[in-house]
Amino acid sequence: LRTEFINVERLSLVGQMAASITHEIRNPMAVVRGFLQLMKEKSPETLDHYYRIVMEELDRANGIINDFLSLAQNRAAEKEDCHLHDIIHELSPLLWADANLRGQSIELKLGTHVPKLHLNAKEMKQLILNLCRNGMEAMDDKGTLTLETRIEGDQVQLYVADTGTGMSESELERLFEPFYTTKSKGTGLGLALCMSIVQRHHGTIDVKSQQGEGTVFIISFSVRSYPQGLMESQSAAASE
Ligand code: ADP
Ligand code: MG
Repeated sequence: LRTEFINVERLSLVGQMAASITHEIRNPMAVVRGFLQLMKEKSPETLDHYYRIVMEELDRANGIINDFLSLAQNRAAEKEDCHLHDIIHELSPLLWADANLRGQSIELKLGTHVPKLHLNAKEMKQLILNLCRNGMEAMDDKGTLTLETRIEGDQVQLYVADTGTGMSESELERLFEPFYTTKSKGTGLGLALCMSIVQRHHGTIDVKSQQGEGTVFIISFSVRSYPQGLMESQSAAASE
């Protein structure tokens, strides 16, 4: 038993993606085309089954395009001082609904004196949502997803932990690779997007995972690089 710990800041993303996108979109399109061909010849009962496959593949292609566009939009998005906890609270109804459907539970452990940070709230939501969805997808109906915030030195850290399948060493190595997915309906772009969002916020992502035990993603933002955030932190601490 050992815990894998990797820092993934160094991986280049968009370059690899440009080459793969054409290929990846062609896969679901080829499936759709093949099944449309078959639909011409088949009975109504068979058509029902084909219809579902065609819709799923179209959704998959659409998902790839959406995720790719978010990722390609690599410009510095507008940031403002916002609180991670507010963002988490805004996402809560969505997360709880998701977890409920799966029979899973969610635990929130929000730290005290966590300062505001200079963030793009929309991107931050996308980041947290992607990490939470992955966590849920890795767990069965007894799983618990934990969202935690902490202050560690001059860093604000966000932990997204699941009690799911965990990953092998070789899976961990490929985790952030665009289009790397182990799911039949995955796009493999979720974590590539997460990485890009974290980089745009000058943060880091670390992953610890143990097979059969679970996985934790740790996102760290430096408070020091945001003078505003530091001021907020000090005045919040003083007033509490
Ligand atoms: P997708 O979710 O579409 O497969 P991602 O980029 O979000 O794409 O994730 C890539 C792969 O990383 C997943 O297919 C899965 O194998 C692995 N993975 C990501 N998060 C977790 C997790 N919390 N637990 C186990 N495996 C994970
Ligand atoms: Mg995902």
